[in-house]
Amino acid sequence: RLIELAGTDSLTGIANPMRMGEEFIRLRSQAERSGMALSLVVLDIDKFKRVNDLHGHDIGDRALQHIAGILSERLRGSDLACRLGGEEFALLLLGADHQQAAKLADHLRQQVDSIPLSLNGTELRISFSGGVATLLNDGDDLSTLLKVADQRMYEAKSSGRNRIVSAHNPVPESLANS
Ligand code: GH3
Ligand code: MG
Ligand code: MG
Repeated sequence: RLIELAGTDSLTGIANPMRMGEEFIRLRSQAERSGMALSLVVLDIDKFKRVNDLHGHDIGDRALQHIAGILSERLRGSDLACRLGGEEFALLLLGADHQQAAKLADHLRQQVDSIPLSLNGTELRISFSGGVATLLNDGDDLSTLLKVADQRMYEAKSSGRNRIVSAHNPVPESLANS
């Protein structure tokens, strides 16, 4: 019970970075043994400061809980959803190559973007931007993969937000640095 708690984010109940570190080691050896792909997605909520400023910190917290719920609901048992901190989340997807991971992340993005969140009679529209990194293609340890996924997430932000960037799905030339 204590070990479980130590690996859990207290606001959302999903995994915290400590637990993600442990799961990554486990999933990486599983991927190596089986030849399955392993991808990491980093997600950051768009303009979240404004949600707090307009609706208050409590509503912001509930929006974070809601997003965490959607992420963990949609994943397979072998996958992991983690709150990295603040309004940033990560997914570890076993058996998903960069293309499949980008597709799954984009489905989640569309789902979150298309359903307004109703909290205390307040309607909230939330979107997030994400970056994808894949084991072997982009690195073989968690900190390298986080760095690459983070870079791509920032590309998604600077090219307009509410999108997923992966090696397979780079930012179009016309949007880069816009
Ligand atoms: P961007 O689209 O560039 O990501 O804009 P942003 O406003 O989301 O980014 P920024 O990093 O400027 O702000 C993140 C905000 O997230 C700051 C803080 O108000 C909010 N935040 C971080 N952690 C929590 C939390 O635990 N609860 C709540 N309610 N808000 C949080
Ligand atoms: Mg952030
Ligand atoms: Mg943000």
